[in-house]
Amino acid sequence: MITIKDNFVFIPENINTSSETNVTIVLRNQEFLTSKASEYLIFEEEDLKWSEMEFQDKQFIGYLDNRPCFLAELTQDSLISENTSLTPLRNLLGKIPDSLFTICSRSIQLSDWQKNNQFCGVCGSKMFNHETERAMFCECNNVMIYPRISPCVIVLVTNGEDLLLAHNKNFPGTFYSTLAGFIEAGESAESAIHREIYEEVKVTVKNIEYFGSQSWPFPSQLMLGYHAEYLEGDITPDGLEIDKADWFNYKELPQVPTGNISISGQLIESYLAKLSN
Ligand SMILES: [Zn+2]
Repeated sequence: MITIKDNFVFIPENINTSSETNVTIVLRNQEFLTSKASEYLIFEEEDLKWSEMEFQDKQFIGYLDNRPCFLAELTQDSLISENTSLTPLRNLLGKIPDSLFTICSRSIQLSDWQKNNQFCGVCGSKMFNHETERAMFCECNNVMIYPRISPCVIVLVTNGEDLLLAHNKNFPGTFYSTLAGFIEAGESAESAIHREIYEEVKVTVKNIEYFGSQSWPFPSQLMLGYHAEYLEGDITPDGLEIDKADWFNYKELPQVPTGNISISGQLIESYLAKLSN
């Protein structure tokens, strides 16, 4: 097992050209093998070789501090080593450094992509990994299926000292967050912002400003974060996704996500910082 430092850098790549020794992250059914001692989850290849664990697929996913990093999937009935356990990514959120979150996010999505694209949608034949690109390939029509990423907008709407926060039907009781939604095929991010906010709470916005993005692998979202200012309309929750929404003064916020977990929390924290300046 290797100890991950906060300043480690992970770079996603598709072809391994390094001769450094490998490190490996281990997955089964969307859960990561973690060491009970440290909660860390990157293993030396050598350690795995001498374990009794059995692996099926293995994919190169990129470089962790210049060392080739692989994703290995445990077989369904493999034993797992003593002093390790399997942990869902949600339980690791906010507890692991960014480089490690990137590796986990990429691993889950590549694993899903490979499982879900075993057969060609055009001719039904078995698909294979393309030699030089991260794609599942079928010769019939040069079909290339790349890992799917679903872009979403996530927006903090503000009006001076007030923040527009919403309670999604699936959230626990007192938890509120920023508004968010998928970008439709053919739509720009800006159009999606206007449409989603109006659909969800019936208000319009102006002065949209890009903030930053976050990979959110539940299952494959890329969250594009924005600030926007209120223009007009009375808040009216759609009753479908959003059951409650309101203006909250920045000094009296409900329970909201924290910035170390999600971009929603970062949007809120950045606005609070701006108000207190
Ligand atoms: Zn085909």
